[in-house]
Amino acid sequence: MAQLSADEAAFGALMSVEQAAERAFALVVPVPEVQTLPLADADGRVLAGDVVAALDLPPFANSAVDGYAVRFGDLSASGETRLPLAGRVPAGADAAGLATRGNAIRVFTGAPMPQGADTVFMQEDVVLEGETVVLPSGLARGANARPAGEDIARGDLAVPSGQRLRPQDIALLAALGETELVVRRRPRIAIFSTGNELTEPGRPLGPAAIYDANRSLLRAMVTRAGGAVVDLGILRDDRASLAESLKQAAGHCDLILTSGGVSTGEEDHVKAAVEQAGTLDFWRIGIKPGRPVAMGLVAGKPFVGLPGNPVAVFVTFAFVARPLIARLGGCAYRLPPSLPVRLGFRYRKKAGRREYVRVSLAPGPDGIPEASRHPQDGAGVLTSLTRTDGLVELPDAATEIAQGTMAAFYPYEALLA
Ligand code: AMP
Ligand code: MG
Repeated sequence: MAQLSADEAAFGALMSVEQAAERAFALVVPVPEVQTLPLADADGRVLAGDVVAALDLPPFANSAVDGYAVRFGDLSASGETRLPLAGRVPAGADAAGLATRGNAIRVFTGAPMPQGADTVFMQEDVVLEGETVVLPSGLARGANARPAGEDIARGDLAVPSGQRLRPQDIALLAALGETELVVRRRPRIAIFSTGNELTEPGRPLGPAAIYDANRSLLRAMVTRAGGAVVDLGILRDDRASLAESLKQAAGHCDLILTSGGVSTGEEDHVKAAVEQAGTLDFWRIGIKPGRPVAMGLVAGKPFVGLPGNPVAVFVTFAFVARPLIARLGGCAYRLPPSLPVRLGFRYRKKAGRREYVRVSLAPGPDGIPEASRHPQDGAGVLTSLTRTDGLVELPDAATEIAQGTMAAFYPYEALLA
């Protein structure tokens, strides 16, 4: 049996990342308030109800190319066909009244298909002889024509409730003629840093002080996750004042996020403060970097206490806090799909915790992306995050991982969406 660390002996087995996320989920419900926004302001917002297509897209059959529209039935079964040119339809023009039987009609991309025409020859493929169009054989019926409703049919679900709107969703809604959308209010996320050593950038730095990096990290990560930041500054390592600040914060936010002070040292006061101000649910997860993560309720509001080291903050935010903010915002969030990469290093780890290793990617000799580990893996080394491409995930149960093993890779961009 694996040796238990002093921590594990004292506090029991670690909770898996999934168990933690599930228990955290049980503590939050989506914010109920909705608002109506113009389409132009809706990027990144979460749709509060299904949007059904109010029209067919495209609304009418049209040509997909610049070319010549014909009735397929007029084409010779073998060999070329010669048809007289009998009309011209640019995009935006009316094609009504054109005689298509036995004729070819000049059409342009996006122009309505003349009544009866069902097939379009690309202009590059035909030869014009005066007013006669010479069409090659071999084109399939319906080629280069886009039927009405080909993209989405009227009455079909266009974008589901809970979708966090992306540019492509907004484009679809615009194409369907929508001008306003009902979205959820952004969840308000209060963020604190804790630590007597922390100084606000811009202030003089004392001899044993460091600048607060985590609040800047969290402000940006929360914003990207769709939350509205309530920035409550730096708190001292003092249980009573921490407890008071947490209680006050609970009054004007939907989630409280802190960093630092959740380890087992006697200067780590966040857990005790949460116990004083509310209830502490759990605080140790099998995740590295980042094991100490506290979860609780303060005055009815969910609380997540992230570790202090910035890399641990990054990882635990991505895998624990991020899904929570999504749920608060009414969003059907799932982790982004990981990509398989080959490990260019061997690795030893403890069983029972998932490790996220900062790596850079480069194509291996066979073209498969190969991950190389950043030389510094301390949880406080910010440049290990700025100088790498993403995280590889090493499974909970694994202990010895051979070089060349395939592993799941998460690009930073995907974790920050
Ligand atoms: P703690 O969990 O409070 O013991 O913090 C662990 C480490 O993270 C210590 O080296 C802290 O100085 C550092 N740390 C904590 N909070 C921050 C922060 N906001 N910005 C940068 N480093 C921090
Ligand atoms: Mg501290």
